[in-house]
Amino acid sequence: MKPEVEIYDTTLRDGSQGEGINFSAADKLRIADKLDSFGVHYIEGGWPGSNPKDMEFFQQARRRKFKNAKVAAFSMTRRKGVAVEKDELMRQLLEAETPVVTIVGKTWLLHVTEVLRATPDENLAMIADTIKFFKDHKKIVFYDAEHSFDGYKNEPEYALATWQAAEKAGADAIVLCDTNGGCLPREISRVTTLAKNKLSARIGIHTHNDCGFGVANAIAAVEAGATQVQGTINGYGERTGNCNLISVIPTLALKMRQSCVPKASLPKLQELSHFVDEIANFNPDPRQPWVGVTAFAHKGGMHAHAVERVAHSYEHINPESVGNSRRVLVSDMSGRSNVLAKANELGFKLKSGTPELKPILARIKELENQGFEFEAAEASLALLIQKHLEHRELPFMVEGYHVSMRGNGMSSICEATVKVSVKNEFSHTVAEGATVVSRSAMKVPWPAYSRRRDDARTQQAHTTDRDRPHGLGRGAGERGGDEGRRRPAGPPLPAERRPGGRRAGAPAARGAPARPARGAQRDDRAGRRRRRRRPADRGAGRRAAGRGRGRPRHRPPHAGASVRERPVVGLA
Ligand SMILES: [Zn+2]
Repeated sequence: MKPEVEIYDTTLRDGSQGEGINFSAADKLRIADKLDSFGVHYIEGGWPGSNPKDMEFFQQARRRKFKNAKVAAFSMTRRKGVAVEKDELMRQLLEAETPVVTIVGKTWLLHVTEVLRATPDENLAMIADTIKFFKDHKKIVFYDAEHSFDGYKNEPEYALATWQAAEKAGADAIVLCDTNGGCLPREISRVTTLAKNKLSARIGIHTHNDCGFGVANAIAAVEAGATQVQGTINGYGERTGNCNLISVIPTLALKMRQSCVPKASLPKLQELSHFVDEIANFNPDPRQPWVGVTAFAHKGGMHAHAVERVAHSYEHINPESVGNSRRVLVSDMSGRSNVLAKANELGFKLKSGTPELKPILARIKELENQGFEFEAAEASLALLIQKHLEHRELPFMVEGYHVSMRGNGMSSICEATVKVSVKNEFSHTVAEGATVVSRSAMKVPWPAYSRRRDDARTQQAHTTDRDRPHGLGRGAGERGGDEGRRRPAGPPLPAERRPGGRRAGAPAARGAPARPARGAQRDDRAGRRRRRRRPADRGAGRRAAGRGRGRPRHRPPHAGASVRERPVVGLA
């Protein structure tokens, strides 16, 4: 069935003109495959002849079978004073061998006379000649009418004449472009309605986001009769970007009930968005409408409580319909509902009548008041809840640690200093080695089974002997660095103190999440992205501008680090 609105993706051409984006030919092919399987109707691959990468893309693309999408090649009208069949740009477009050709031409007289330095009639001839040439070659031809709205506002009759020239030459769609992105939705609506009334060809819309209206303007055009929307995934593009298809597609499908992409594709929307971010080397925008991780995150206690009872009381759609999910955040603004929902998500069996719920909430608020932040530290929250449910005191507190590396160019050594306390006693231990942090932690005193030495009341002591702890409360098995083979006398070691073992809820060397919570998995993905970031570190500016994760909140004056940077074991 023919869709009511066709989706024309220009991520690979207009999107790649965005700052910080540089797709290789292989990147473009991967994105094209993804777009095709998602179900967009047209994929604009690039501008043949503008660079070798785009030529390679078209060479590779013509050997592939796309099951949903048609590939489009983009170029401008023939050059002034050059016959269309002798124009090099036209030859390159034909060599791309795409079923669709998209031609951009001038609508605004200012551009015709001042930029192109052509006469108005010559511009009309350039439009007509180019479109007719490709229609004669049996192509589907879309005409991108550059500066349609600015041109129409400046000289409506001439703007209309350019569109009619394209239509008469056989264009399959006249695509009205808000190239400078400065129009308001009502202007888009008015001009699109007029074009719809004057032309018999299909109308498309191509908007930019300079006023933040990229999506709104595209939707206004659809309401006025446009049946093709051009845009990019995640709104990539020149300056502030293009119309964001990740917002347009669900708006058309779920709000306007217009058929566009296959229904089964909508739940893959977030996956598509993140896939393209990954290839573009950007962190996904957490606040992106529809698909951002905060799009359905509830922080206020009243909201969490209401959503628990009636989901749509604070959600405009079901998050799963676009591949997203509901999240309940825990902070000092939380109520019992937030803690209950988050605890159950983390695997605890809590009910609204659980007596520990109140002290857990009180402790969270107390710590948040001190400057800690649980919103992004689910492992710490899990430990806090576990502690309250088990009614036990933590066996020791990590008061502080320091890890450093030194090397000589051939090898490197890691050294850690760990200071822990057991009730009112302290131990300060230094050790070296590959797994030095966990090994240092294994050497701390454990009063339940450590045999304390009489002289072990010194609160701070150091050693530089490799793998040799020194100081308060060394146990029988802690001498000589043989703790990996011999266990000190006493009760069984907790799992996290066994070599290679880690109890659920216990931290790894650096405050790792306690359970495989979704937040932790996201952190891990973010880590992988950081590791694979190329030396040029594209996107760093964007992260600095606040799009990346992990911006520090204010820190507790005494701690010097937020909860996510501290060993979580000592906090609850
Ligand atoms: Zn554009």
